[in-house]
Amino acid sequence: MSQYVYDFSGGSMAQRHLLGGKGANLAEMTNLGLPVPPGFTITTDACRVYLKEGREPHELAEEVTDHLLSLETTMGRRLGDPADPLLVSVRSGAPQSMPGMMETVLNVGLTDRSVAGLAAASGDERFAADSYRRLLHMFGTTVLGVDDAAFVETLDELKRRRGVTDDTQLDADDLRALVDAYHQIIGSGAGRVFPQDPREQLDLSVRAVFGSWNTQRAILYRRHEGIADDLGTAVTVQAMVFGNRGPSSGSGVAFTRDPATGRRGAYGDYLQNAQGEDVVAGIRNTVPLEELAQVDPVSHDELTGMMGRLEKHYRDLCDIEFTIDDGKLWMLQTRVGKRTAEAAFRIAAEMVDERLIDRDEALRRVTGEQLAQLMFPQFADSSSRQPIARGVAASPGAATGEAVFDSATAKRLAAQGRDVILIRRETTPEDLPGMTVARGVLTSRGGKTSHAAVVARGMGRVCVCGADELDIDVAARCMGLPDGTVVREGDPLSIDGMTGEVFSGHLPVTDSVVLRSLAGDHGDHGDHGDHGDHGDHGDHGDHGDHGDHGDHGLVGAVRRLVAHADAARRLSVRANADTADDARTARELGAEGIGLCRTEHMFLGSRRQLIEDLIVADGATEQQAALDALLPLQRADFTSILEAMDGLPVTIRLIDPPLHEFLPHRDLISDEPDSDRRQRLAATLDRLREENPMLGLRGVRLGFTIPGLVHMQARAVFEAAADRVTIGGDPRPEIMVPLVATAAELAVIRREIEGIAVAVEAERGVTLRHRIGTMIEVPRAALTAHEIASSADFLSFGTNDLTQMTWGLSRDDVEASFLPTYLDQGILTTSPFETIDADGVGALIRTAIEQGRAADDALGLGVCGEHGGDPASVRFFDDLGLDYVSCSPYRVPIARLEAGRAALMDRSDAP
Ligand code: ADP
Ligand code: MG
Ligand code: MG
Repeated sequence: MSQYVYDFSGGSMAQRHLLGGKGANLAEMTNLGLPVPPGFTITTDACRVYLKEGREPHELAEEVTDHLLSLETTMGRRLGDPADPLLVSVRSGAPQSMPGMMETVLNVGLTDRSVAGLAAASGDERFAADSYRRLLHMFGTTVLGVDDAAFVETLDELKRRRGVTDDTQLDADDLRALVDAYHQIIGSGAGRVFPQDPREQLDLSVRAVFGSWNTQRAILYRRHEGIADDLGTAVTVQAMVFGNRGPSSGSGVAFTRDPATGRRGAYGDYLQNAQGEDVVAGIRNTVPLEELAQVDPVSHDELTGMMGRLEKHYRDLCDIEFTIDDGKLWMLQTRVGKRTAEAAFRIAAEMVDERLIDRDEALRRVTGEQLAQLMFPQFADSSSRQPIARGVAASPGAATGEAVFDSATAKRLAAQGRDVILIRRETTPEDLPGMTVARGVLTSRGGKTSHAAVVARGMGRVCVCGADELDIDVAARCMGLPDGTVVREGDPLSIDGMTGEVFSGHLPVTDSVVLRSLAGDHGDHGDHGDHGDHGDHGDHGDHGDHGDHGDHGLVGAVRRLVAHADAARRLSVRANADTADDARTARELGAEGIGLCRTEHMFLGSRRQLIEDLIVADGATEQQAALDALLPLQRADFTSILEAMDGLPVTIRLIDPPLHEFLPHRDLISDEPDSDRRQRLAATLDRLREENPMLGLRGVRLGFTIPGLVHMQARAVFEAAADRVTIGGDPRPEIMVPLVATAAELAVIRREIEGIAVAVEAERGVTLRHRIGTMIEVPRAALTAHEIASSADFLSFGTNDLTQMTWGLSRDDVEASFLPTYLDQGILTTSPFETIDADGVGALIRTAIEQGRAADDALGLGVCGEHGGDPASVRFFDDLGLDYVSCSPYRVPIARLEAGRAALMDRSDAP
């Protein structure tokens, strides 16, 4: 037989699934001996039965009766006793915290008769009436479904008539009048009278809490946070303690450290003469916790002591609720507190210094996503500014610019060098040109998977979406704010894609201090264990507001945790970099080589003419002349990159895209003054035209049609390496052949490249350390990796193309069209272009690794798609046993951190 009710003393924090987070932690605090008002918790099992069958399980009533009886015995009072009533709260509590999403009813047990008993027993008429009006309000709305506004307006009206601003200024007579008015509101609003049977109050409240699992806002919250819909909530019934008993009473919330910055020292708000819900509801101004030290030093000391104990016990930041009932402190809730990215790093690092946790645990508590947030540019000081609206934080970063309401205007202004924020109700593929040129995108509809959000993330644009308070009128080129003001085209605007906040005006943007510090962290990635608590000591006992100091604590924390990740990780981390500048940045950020250097980017700008010459060349002589002109330029590119990455591997990919990408667009050919050239260009374009260029003449296939091109590129690489060797450098070039589908292709190209290496070595009298490998981006290559491995020193998974080819999706096309619809409808939960598709693409990679390693156990294996910088994907790649991931330079620290975490995580934790 299942048990549906547990006394606080019979539970523990391990039972959050059954007792909800609140119930489990109340049990834990009770067993720690902290002053918790006694009570019991009805399990989530009971809720699930209720939600499924529309009625409570049969056994529940009797179990509640038993536990209520024992609570009454403990308290020496009976629920709702007319002489001296026991009152209880009925509280919701889900397995995963859903703050403010569900309902709680306080003061259950008060009736027209017992309110007199409470007044008599406490000797305080005002307090009794205040408690009753609160019950009527909460029960009326939560249990009986009466509109909240009726209660609020009546209270406001009474305050107005009495000429007071605060509820505490109302006297006993006022509150009794309020009770009468509330009875009437319930009578007319609910079509029934307020129940005068205490047990009926209790049962109806429990049922209402069960039901609150499925309110619209709770459902939306769960969808947003990815919490399962079938967990159900537990219900906690707890003896009331009273913060509304006058000035020697009050309620508060507190964190054991600052959840925004992570600074040490309790942080919280207190409200005198108030019940708990008043603190968060903001009906009166709370005071900071330090003031409690003046008002009630004994309780303050006791509270500080208990917070210390809780933190030691939970070994983490705790978020608590407390109430002081006539000078006696009670603990009403605790949980591991939510925190910002900044606080997460700082708290984790400082808890290591305090020996609360070890460094592995600290590393588990921070994520690559959080580190990414700390590396984006930020508003220099948004905390002092009031946002004009809030939406979903859809794509991080800080953007500021002029408001524009359509794509064409965005393009026009951007072309004049102006920064714009594109504002739309929602975006469609039509808005792409505007999104491309905008600093940021703001919409009033849609969430994290809306078109605007998906596309903005893909393009690295800042995006706030679903800011539904904004009344956007695209035709009139303006938007209205709730307070009546209007933002028009051209008005300055700032949006924060990390917080979802929208500000008016241009807020100054700064580089992240974390990024600056990581970039200064030259090659110093060893284990900092011995001086782990170095540099942070200035912070002890210093909770002052020295901004720099706080940053310093953060920067130190990030560096130490990244250093620990470096010590822990098995995966090596390289960068995708096409220029010496990028290579240097990447190396500063900790890259251990280049995993992908795309050579086609070197043919842009003024060199475009040369590659054009090559493509339209008529005959071998013309072709060779074009190649001869390109060779020294390529050699110089490679020399500078090999220099920036001296001593580290540099994977250079041979030219990959279809050749027509290097030619002018057909519409532009008519601008060409030379008519002979014009004709040749037109003819070449005709010759190269393809239905599906992505699947056409590109990659290794070019090596068979224009052999001189591969030859030139390989020679440039080896000559550059020879130049470096000659002056004492240590170049480690790795030539990578793209788009190979069959071992035969690679075998031919490899022989050619090897021939060039031998030739250059002979000409220059040097030995060149090099490797030749291929990119695995065609499914067939993955499935025949054992054959391909015979001609490859390494395989590098080009997961962008491999994903496109495996799914049959062209990324540029689908991200702007139906991918958002798929995400919205739940056909896909994440974009396979952001997080590696473990089941499909991942299976191909796994197969290729197994085959490749079986054929050659020294085969190098890496990933060079964008997934290499995605936290969840990095864990998966670690699990597969790859040697390295390669990602964009700014994601290198994120990949380092996640690779470290991956090494610590449970192997089954992959996406
Ligand atoms: P939420 O999950 O929305 O925070 P809670 O169940 O924690 O809801 O309750 C709302 C408020 O009522 C909190 O401030 C809490 O501290 C207070 N509260 C709950 N139970 C009691 C009680 N038994 N005595 C006094 N205050 C209580
Ligand atoms: Mg609470
Ligand atoms: Mg590719």
